[in-house]
Amino acid sequence: MKIAIYPGSFDPITSGHLNIIQRAANIFDRLIVCVMVNHAKSPMFTREERVDMIKRVVGDIPNVEVDSSDELLAEYAKRKGSCVIIKGLRAGSDFENEFQMALINRKINPTLDTMFLSSEHQYMYLSSSTVKELGGYDVDLSDFLPEQIIPDFKQRVAVKNQGGNRK
Ligand code: ADP
Repeated sequence: MKIAIYPGSFDPITSGHLNIIQRAANIFDRLIVCVMVNHAKSPMFTREERVDMIKRVVGDIPNVEVDSSDELLAEYAKRKGSCVIIKGLRAGSDFENEFQMALINRKINPTLDTMFLSSEHQYMYLSSSTVKELGGYDVDLSDFLPEQIIPDFKQRVAVKNQGGNRK
């Protein structure tokens, strides 16, 4: 059984992430989408919220499961019995960093490969941080976020704005 890991921050999951998940799930027997926790970052959504949102979005894809980890990715993959990391590649800017990460992961775990799926053209410039910037404006988010999580996102933006106004 070929198991692939799709790691990321998913803060929050976007339609670009979902597109990669759907395509990777068609290629592999099992796909584990893993929220990688970086304690140095302060995300908009907690680890549990991010996992819950992804679960709701991928609920109808039978061979996808959702997890979270603060382990080194190469070690996490070994523990899960996976030899493939999936990465989505957007415009050229992703390449340098992802290539470096792929080489480092392979150095730590020589049986681990990284497979790159090119972004669909309509998601080429989409990132979680762009969506977070748009959140401050009255923009239709349906081209950027899976519909199941748009209410969560709008609510979080509203709470943040209230907090900001109190300052
Ligand atoms: P972001 O950069 O949006 O914060 P993550 O750190 O969660 O995203 O990224 C997880 C993975 O998803 C990375 O491999 C990243 O390149 C990929 N990815 C993110 N957005 C897209 C997109 N719009 N199209 C294809 N791949 C993407």
